[in-house]
Amino acid sequence: DELMNKLDPSRDLLLTYNGVRTLMSRYLMKRLDGSFFETPQYMWMRIAMGVAYSEVKYGNDPIKWVEKFYDLVSQLKFLPNSPTMFNALTKLGELSACFVIPVDDCLSKDSNRDNPNCFFGIMDAAKLAALLFQAGAGVGYQFGELRPEGDVVKSTSGVASGPLSFMRLFDTLVDVIKQGGKRRGAQMGMLFWWHPDIEKFITSKTGRLKDVQLQNFNISVTIDDYFMTKALRGEDVYLLNPRECTCLYQTWGQEFIKCYEECVSKVKAGLVKVWRRVNAGELWSKIVESAWDSGDPGLWNRDVANMKIEYVNDVVSEKYRVINGTNPCGEVALYPFESCNLGSINLTKYINGNSIDWVSLANDIMLAVRFLDDVIDSNQHPHEYLDRANKASRRIGLGINGWADVLVSLDIPYDSPKAIALADVVMGFVARVAVRASVELAKEKGPFPLWPSSKWRSGFLPWRVHDERVSKMLEVKGVSSDVEEYLEILKLGYGELGGLPNKAEEYLAKLRATDDELIKDASTVGVRNGALISIAPEGSRSLIAGVNSSIEPIFAIAYVRNLSIGKLIEYNYTALRKLKDSNALDNETTSKVLESGMLPSNHVMHPVLKTANEIHWRWHVFMQVTFAKWSDSGVSKTINMPSNATKEDVNGAYRLAWALGAFGITVYRDKSKAVQVIYTGVEG
Ligand code: ADP
Repeated sequence: DELMNKLDPSRDLLLTYNGVRTLMSRYLMKRLDGSFFETPQYMWMRIAMGVAYSEVKYGNDPIKWVEKFYDLVSQLKFLPNSPTMFNALTKLGELSACFVIPVDDCLSKDSNRDNPNCFFGIMDAAKLAALLFQAGAGVGYQFGELRPEGDVVKSTSGVASGPLSFMRLFDTLVDVIKQGGKRRGAQMGMLFWWHPDIEKFITSKTGRLKDVQLQNFNISVTIDDYFMTKALRGEDVYLLNPRECTCLYQTWGQEFIKCYEECVSKVKAGLVKVWRRVNAGELWSKIVESAWDSGDPGLWNRDVANMKIEYVNDVVSEKYRVINGTNPCGEVALYPFESCNLGSINLTKYINGNSIDWVSLANDIMLAVRFLDDVIDSNQHPHEYLDRANKASRRIGLGINGWADVLVSLDIPYDSPKAIALADVVMGFVARVAVRASVELAKEKGPFPLWPSSKWRSGFLPWRVHDERVSKMLEVKGVSSDVEEYLEILKLGYGELGGLPNKAEEYLAKLRATDDELIKDASTVGVRNGALISIAPEGSRSLIAGVNSSIEPIFAIAYVRNLSIGKLIEYNYTALRKLKDSNALDNETTSKVLESGMLPSNHVMHPVLKTANEIHWRWHVFMQVTFAKWSDSGVSKTINMPSNATKEDVNGAYRLAWALGAFGITVYRDKSKAVQVIYTGVEG
């Protein structure tokens, strides 16, 4: 009764029409006859209750936390990832949005008990993936442990079919399991650059295979700094068989280089079969060409991901000591069996006129971290390995939503130094407060179990690692001028922000969330969560919150979105409001906007209302890496390009992202796929 009295139906009015439509189509629980079992406010309460229930385990009063969580989500200030909204307090109980599961080089563990390299075989992975799709989650895999096509299979004296054919199996799996009709499945497939089948992988969704093959996969080439150096210099590399050199996927960084070079000398000595010798520069060009043609493959840098994580999660098996993959959209690099428990702060709620309400923002970040930490305890996974891995690292992924709205309301163009500097200030604030919140939780509930052996103990902060890497790039030929330009832009932007950064810093000091204080506490008291920050695409959450998604610019002012629930004609309310407020919406402008989704380039409001395809890729990348600095898991972002962008543009964007420390990169050239989710303009 107490909680029923808390329900505030007037908060339904915070939802936009498309927000309500989204909730009705997939989120609100229905009875068997299809009628609704809950209203939005009941839904928010169900989520708050399902999550706050974990507090009982720690001897806390759950009601107090139900109320606080309800207030947070029902005002659309913070939204957890979709499965938490779908499944909280239901029989399914799976609250995580995504996972990485390993695909070892064998069909199944059952028939390979004496093989140490077979802990979780291909069919073991397929079975688990099926259960996760059913719950509405996405799955990422590294296929690079599989022996190449044409290699021997001892048990049958046969020939191996290679990673690509097994990827097709997982692709079909998604077609068959429709996620209870709630959403299309999402997968990430990766392959190491040194794998003998890499060329087939690079072109597996391109040319005549575009729009045909692997449609339920995003694909990314797993790169590292070693490969990039070879590619920039146009040097030759050997493609190697993971079956013959298992250390290739069980090491990263310097250890990997040692392993790779040892394996190459074995090849040269004729001890293992020569697979192929290729020019790294040519391999790079193939990647660029395919990405230009179809958007695939993206890149993912294993060095950055492993560098920024503070613990080693090998609780399920000692075999898994390296992060080799990410979830479907790339925002969470995970050890095998770990999951992403995502949630995002809707930044539009903390803008007051021309300033940012740091106090409320900090309070809500603290609450959001607690919420996500509770999700870990409330979660019911379909496999005990998932439970073990997740309870060991207790990683969460706090992100943001509505970044473009914030910039528009502050009159700051997305492609400006000021926007880049503001991103640095805001995300720096979010990340530091999140670590402070996690330290406070560690005091109350204990640090994450792997903390004693983690780098947090020795004064580690993920963003410092980022800065160190970027400064090293200042000495790398071919990219140093790019890095200098970026640092100049950042400095310029800070100059234009005036006193705003100081205000944020003052408040951080008050919260004891300066770097020095965080290092001191994280290394002595501990932190509750092994990883904290991740920038997700916010596909559905942005619709529910009625804001521009994640850190993306305005996609278009008027557009059509094709979803599994139907076609939505949408207008960007932030942009329309801005145009109205500044009396800049005449007939001519309106018809141009309806036709193309954009403002005429000579329009007074054009600079602050530029859309994704009008913003140069350099600015897209600058924005992405600024957020990447503050993330310990990853950033999902699309580097949009107009349809007439060239291969040289893609080449430049991929290289720039690497130089500036991105976890990965994905480009999309307008109309380069037959079917796209969003089209600009609603007429014509
Ligand atoms: P939300 O629906 O909560 O807004 P996001 O768009 O931020 O989710 O995506 C977060 C992650 O959730 C993705 O990286 C992916 O792993 C998973 N995900 C998103 N959409 C789907 C889908 N249709 N099927 C399975 N997993 C998905």
